[in-house]
Amino acid sequence: MDYRHLGSSGLKISEITYGNWLTHGSQVENDVATQCVRAALEAGITTFDTADVYANTQAETVLGDALKGERRESLEIFTKVYFPTGPKGPNDTGLSRKHIMESIDGSLRRLQTDHVDLYQAHRYDSFTPLEETMQAFADVVRAGKAHYIGVSEWTADQLRAGVELARDLGFQLVSSQPQYSMLWRVIEDEVVPASRELGVSQIVWSPIAQGVLSGKYKPGQELPAGSRATDEKGGADMIKRYMRDDVLERVQQLVPVAQELDLTMAQLAVAWVLQNDNVAAALIGASRPEQVHENVAASGVTIPAELMTRIDEALGDVVERDAAKTAEQTPKERFC
Ligand code: NDP
Repeated sequence: MDYRHLGSSGLKISEITYGNWLTHGSQVENDVATQCVRAALEAGITTFDTADVYANTQAETVLGDALKGERRESLEIFTKVYFPTGPKGPNDTGLSRKHIMESIDGSLRRLQTDHVDLYQAHRYDSFTPLEETMQAFADVVRAGKAHYIGVSEWTADQLRAGVELARDLGFQLVSSQPQYSMLWRVIEDEVVPASRELGVSQIVWSPIAQGVLSGKYKPGQELPAGSRATDEKGGADMIKRYMRDDVLERVQQLVPVAQELDLTMAQLAVAWVLQNDNVAAALIGASRPEQVHENVAASGVTIPAELMTRIDEALGDVVERDAAKTAEQTPKERFC
């Protein structure tokens, strides 16, 4: 496993990071969740990402249990705040001082730790002054409850404003967590150039496009049993944007590229995001430990320029590149 600096900070994280969205506390049983975490640790993954909203707080609890007994200093634990949890009262959402200060304590309790390494704003909150949010994050850092602050799905302008305030307040906003894969490249034109200027790294989610880039979903064929596309607890709904014949057909055209590199399709997908030097980590999910074993082999792989071009040609116009898609992630109304 290779490790990369997170933004301009001194913190190093494993370039393949394990995340538990849709799996822990939901699609997979707790014993399998623990096996996946063990597989990650054995492979040299030190960085684990979750969020209070995953499985309505259950994912943090399962991860906390799975990591119990590990040397805390050898781990980087990341979580997030924004989306509503619990009874969805008027203050159970967003980036107000109240919600941040209360949420961090709940997350630490469930994760069984006194600090997280990275605390992330899960979305931008248009209904709370950014100054209020950043002051609350500054206080979380000063209280020792988080070492660094990050954000998720913020636009380039939102990142610029956040980093400037963080500097004024004396803490480090070091990361952005966007969706990024061979199929979803909306950060390339604006978020990545701004992040390079600001000393911010990307920690990218769904690098395998939720399993689609593993090539296991074949156009016109039955869905593989036990896959996310069959998960009625939430996964099937989340993956459906990619379950189109034009996308699945294009993905099959990547098979010879993966073969040429002696990689599986999932490994190719993870290696592809890591070719971007503004990416600090590929954030992988897994429903079974074998997937972790397979996917970590993407660490340290170089894809030659000629094959990067062939990937672009193979995928053609099913790749989403519109920078405005990041802005669409900012909720237009409050959740509660
Ligand atoms: P991936 O693109 O890595 O998809 C993971 C899923 O793909 C697995 O659960 C599995 O599903 C399937 N898969 C993985 N490896 C293989 C393989 N080798 N062969 C076949 N299928 C495979 O990422 P996720 O979508 O899970 O997201 C990863 C993490 O990113 C999350 O856990 C979370 O931490 C973060 N995230 C952040 C978001 C944000 O808003 N900030 C939003 C979403 C995710 P199955 O076996 O069930 O088909």
